[in-house]
Amino acid sequence: MGVAARIVLYAPNDYIAKWACSRAFLRIAQLEETMSDYRSDSELMWLCREGHLAPVRVSNDLFFVLRKALELSQRSNGAFDITVGPFVSLWRRARKTKQMPTENELNEAKKLVGWQKVQLDDSNQTVKLAVAGMKLDLGGIAKGYAADCALKVIKKFGISRALIELGGDIVLGDPPPDRKGWRIGILDEKGKPKKVLELANCAVSTSGSTEQFIEIDGRRYAHIIDPKTGLGLTKLVLVTVIAKDGITADSLATALCVLGEKEGRKLAETYGSIAFFQEKSLD
Ligand code: ADP
Ligand code: MG
Repeated sequence: MGVAARIVLYAPNDYIAKWACSRAFLRIAQLEETMSDYRSDSELMWLCREGHLAPVRVSNDLFFVLRKALELSQRSNGAFDITVGPFVSLWRRARKTKQMPTENELNEAKKLVGWQKVQLDDSNQTVKLAVAGMKLDLGGIAKGYAADCALKVIKKFGISRALIELGGDIVLGDPPPDRKGWRIGILDEKGKPKKVLELANCAVSTSGSTEQFIEIDGRRYAHIIDPKTGLGLTKLVLVTVIAKDGITADSLATALCVLGEKEGRKLAETYGSIAFFQEKSLD
């Protein structure tokens, strides 16, 4: 998933700690194999190739993530959209060539984008894609889910005091012994600590345009894409979300970057989540 994974836990002994961690890392690796868009043999890539021909039956993990992603697409009015893959490809190319995609390329990509083009059948656990050539991108949701799954694995070993971190996505179990929570620092856009929160049994995700961006003709375009334009966000934005689990926090943080503070706060509330915004227009 392109990030370092870190697990912190309190276990009765070293042996159980190592065993639990190695199983949790295996689970993360397995999810990466399922949902990566870099590996051509991942289940996700196979779905993208075959999904327009007939409904494809997929694994529990993939179905669950797709269901959650589409639910958020609907609730965010399309701000979160896993079908942005073709736009992401253009963005990645632009990063290499330092050239903007052409109007024509954006229009061609647009034909393959739109969350309504992914149709799920809950009773058969199948997925149908409306057109050929679609590219689903779970980069804004899979890490949070993987962290949730890792914590579940750890809990099976009888360990509840644990922290899982996958890049900007953190999932928390019970707090360390004799503490009310895990100390999580919320950073400002320069990476300086803004405040420290003590949290447990929830998830914290940060998304934004401050770390990954391309600069073309003096303008910054973030790796988070506005599905309406197909272009990376041009505003300076950093959003931290606290939610009940990793899959919610991760995807919501990405969605809120696109939506902006006013709309974003409203949406976060409907998820019972708290959001911290740092936003600045660069126009
Ligand atoms: P990071 O991966 O840096 O932690 P995010 O969780 O915000 O950041 O996810 C960003 C990734 O999500 C992008 O690299 C891309 O793969 C995907 N993505 C970009 N724009 C959107 C969007 N509007 N909706 C859903 N996923 C997106
Ligand atoms: Mg995210």
